[in-house]
Amino acid sequence: MAYQVACSQEDSFMIKSEDEHEVIQHVKEHAEEKHDMALSDSDAKDMIEQVS
Ligand SMILES: [Zn+2]
Repeated sequence: MAYQVACSQEDSFMIKSEDEHEVIQHVKEHAEEKHDMALSDSDAKDMIEQVS
């Protein structure tokens, strides 16, 4: 089982990891750096898809 997030904006950002916390951190950093958006942990968590 892995956790995956693909950015909903039109860029190629995608992260996949078995560590949910790592995925959340990367999504938050990406949103802040590229989209000037401050996401909470739960915002980032809502974007996660579980993939096998
Ligand atoms: Zn993005």
